[in-house]
Amino acid sequence: VIRIRKPKRAPKVLHTHGKRKTQELQTEVKRARQGGVEIVLHFDPAVYAHRDVKTALSKAQHGKCAFCESKILHISHGDVEHFRPKKGFRQHANEPLSTPGYYWLTYAWINLYFCCQICNQRHKKSLFPLADASARARSPRNVAREKPLFIDPSLDDPSAHITFHGEFAVAINGSPRGAATIDGLQLNRRELVEERRQWLDAMRFLLKFRADLEDWRRPEDREELERLRRYLAGAAADQSEYAAMARALLSTRVH
Ligand SMILES: [Zn+2]
Repeated sequence: VIRIRKPKRAPKVLHTHGKRKTQELQTEVKRARQGGVEIVLHFDPAVYAHRDVKTALSKAQHGKCAFCESKILHISHGDVEHFRPKKGFRQHANEPLSTPGYYWLTYAWINLYFCCQICNQRHKKSLFPLADASARARSPRNVAREKPLFIDPSLDDPSAHITFHGEFAVAINGSPRGAATIDGLQLNRRELVEERRQWLDAMRFLLKFRADLEDWRRPEDREELERLRRYLAGAAADQSEYAAMARALLSTRVH
């Protein structure tokens, strides 16, 4: 997970259609509550996952999943994911779904991320733990008071909570938010760890090569050394896959 900077202005479709659809949801909830009947809500992916929304998110996230940092677009279309689950939520994975969820954030720009199918499916279980479950927001008014355990990549600084030991994500100083995010999104799932290990092996090889070139101090290597430095810096840049891991690796080395 790295910090994500979304454009301040939401795609137009969220302002227009999204606003109207949110009002409809609020009316539905009110009506059901007054009538004492079950709340059944309909969410419209044609609006929250509209092409403009997906494109804007994908651009802000450099085509990477907001959580696992895998590049998505060359293998799938990717999903638009709700940070706060719209349909219902669970504080713990083994408890029944509480409904309604954060329906009023279904079309809210701040609540949307571009996400790979696997991270999205984890999220689909509607797990959304809070530090204090009794402070759960049941209406837009109280959201600011909530303390989610999952790291919100555009509000929080993920690097304060999660680092990497080799290819494994770990919570910094036992950060409960780091731990909940790693665990809830399974950021150490086997396939992902294997993928990261391949990157890591290549980076370690290049670091070793760089150290050798620096030791040799041969003038003819100067250009090669410069290219290597640029390449390694690039691996830690926002647009690179698994940049958080690359940053952790580079920060533990002497430059
Ligand atoms: Zn992912």
